[in-house]
This record gives sequence, C-alpha cells and structure tokens, in this order.
Amino acid sequence: MTAAATLTIDLRALRENWRKLADMVAPAACAAVVKADGYGCGLERVVGALLAEGCRTFFVARLSEGFRARTMTPEAAIYVLDGLLPGVGPEMRQAGLRPALGSLPEIAEWAAGGGGPAALHFDTGMNRLGLSLDEAEPALAALGRTPDLIMSHFASSEDLASLDNAAQIERFARLRELIPNVPASLCNSSGIFLPDHPWHDLERPGYALYGGNPTPGRPNPMRAVVTLEAPILQTRRVEAGAHVGYNGQWTAKRPTQLAVIPIGYADGIPRSAMGVEGRPGPDVAISGVRCPIVGRVSMDLICIDATDAPPEAVFRGAPVEILGAAISIDEFGERAGTIGYEILTSLGRRYQRIYRD
Ligand SMILES: *Cc1c(COP(=O)(O)O)cnc(C)c1O
Repeated sequence: MTAAATLTIDLRALRENWRKLADMVAPAACAAVVKADGYGCGLERVVGALLAEGCRTFFVARLSEGFRARTMTPEAAIYVLDGLLPGVGPEMRQAGLRPALGSLPEIAEWAAGGGGPAALHFDTGMNRLGLSLDEAEPALAALGRTPDLIMSHFASSEDLASLDNAAQIERFARLRELIPNVPASLCNSSGIFLPDHPWHDLERPGYALYGGNPTPGRPNPMRAVVTLEAPILQTRRVEAGAHVGYNGQWTAKRPTQLAVIPIGYADGIPRSAMGVEGRPGPDVAISGVRCPIVGRVSMDLICIDATDAPPEAVFRGAPVEILGAAISIDEFGERAGTIGYEILTSLGRRYQRIYRD
C-alpha cells in the first residue's frame, strides 16, 4: 500500500440503496443523480453499477459530466441540469444528452437548432433555476414538441416542518394540469420520504444513493457506501495545558494521548472540522471507539485525541476510521459545521480508491 489514506466505495451498497428506493416508489421510475463526480464516488463507476442494477435515467449538472456518463451507456436518458448554455446545442444533440431547459431563451435556442429530447425545468418556489408557471404555455409553444419530462426541485424537503414543501407540491400539481400527459419528476432523496409521497413518474435521488440520510433526525434507511481510513503516522503523549496544532487552538485538559493521521484540508476535510477550546471537532474512530479531532486541520494532517481508545490500538500504522460504519457522513458534516453532501463531494484525490463490487 503506497497511498496514506484509503477510500473504499461499496458499489453493492450503492446498488442496494438504488434498488430500495426503486422498489419503494414503483410503479414510478427511479433515476440517479450522478453530478459532482457521482457525489465524489466516481461518476463512471457509479453509472456502471446502477446500469447493472437496472437504472435507465441519469441526471448530471454539467455538460462535461453528461459526456462522461454517455461513455458508459449509449441508451440511457441523460439529463443535464445546467440546461443549455449558449452555443452548446449541437454538441449536446450529437451526444444524445437532454437539457433540462429552464428559460424561454434556452428553449428558443434548442428548438431553433433542431430540438430533440429535453426536459422543461419549472421553478415552484426555490427561485433558483427554472421557468415560472406563467411561462408554461409559451414554453410549450416555443419548444414545438412534447417535452420528455417536466420537473421541479424542492428547496426544503429534508425539513418536514417546512411549509415550503406543501406549497411546492401544490404548485407542481397545478403545473401538471397546465401540461397534462407528460411524465413528471419532483422528488430528490428527501422528497421521496415526504409523508405526502409526491412521487409522480420519476424520482431523482442523489445523496441517499451514496448513503446519506434522507430523513435527518430519524434513523438512516440507507446503507453506508463510503469508508475512509488512514493510518496513524505518529503518536505523542502531552501534559494538561499543552496546545495542539497551528495557533494552539486546542488545549489539553488532561494528560492526553495524541495521534496524527495523514489527511487534511487538501483532502477535503474542511478546516471548520477543527477542535477548539470547549468544542471538539468531529469524532473519528479507533477500534470502534470515538476520538475527537483536536486543533486546526492542517493541509495534510489532523490530530486526534486518542486518550480514550484502547492503548493497544494506538500505534504507528494503526487504522483510524474517519468515515464508515461508526462515523456517518451526516454526523461528520454536522460536527464540521457543514452537511454530509459537502463532505462527500469534497472527497480528496490523494486517497487510494478501492471499489467493492
Ligand atoms: C442535486 C439535485 C437532485 C438530487 O438531490 P439529493 O438531495 O442529493 O437527492 C435532484 N434534483 C436536482 C434538480 C438537483 O439539483
């Protein structure tokens, strides 16, 4: 083993997660969102695994991601959520990629270039991308063909208490009356788990496929996909009062067993994961025992307080779990002041990657 840290991606768990959602929403169909390099897990590997499981529709953000997904399958429907940037129509059409058209100028350009399969992306309350409901009629007229999909996106579906969900569900129902008999897609991962089951014809889960919890605050129904481990480089015992790391941001309150591991912010561990006075950073696990990150996250290193780990498990070369069975991406994200999505999509390029299939 030459790489310091190892990222293991369990493609079987990924497939199981997709299967679970697909079975849950049937007879609606289940797509897969594979943007941001398959949420950091490797776009081609993810698409390949999900094709084998029966997935036939994929969503990417960027056109470049669409080209990559297309190398894996000549047939699957691949939607590009960015829509149509000026001038890229011919390339898109040639690769058989479908833009999620979100404005009248995009639609006009797509139609003028010869059209082709496409989605119409409507905004139902997020005020980010998409057509307004008032534009439904002119959009259909400008497209000059029946769209292959109409879609919208939730702003707060992970928050059951948010009133936005009901409002968006209602607006999407109104959209379907304006554009009847066209397949429709509303749900991301958390949307699928909303009590109303606003499933329509096609689901667009991303995060849940990769093991993220689509139901925050409740048990995670998905299987973990990502395991990140690193070996201890060096251990050190310090006395109470010793400072750790850049700018001495953390001070030992007791005689402390420190362990240093070769992972840092250059590997996607946010600097906000530091442990400061009175607020330790996220836990990692040594031999299943939780140990907090202490001190600032360096570019290449983090320090952990391994005092509570079994002493025989704390030695040079011993494995430390940063993400996996004991430490979920959701927990790590929250304790680092961000979300699991950002932890996943920032996963570093210096890791040795192992795919289990
Ligand atoms: C990213 C994205 C999704 C997937 O969302 P998750 O919360 O990861 O399931 C679905 N639809 C759109 C439009 C997106 O941008």
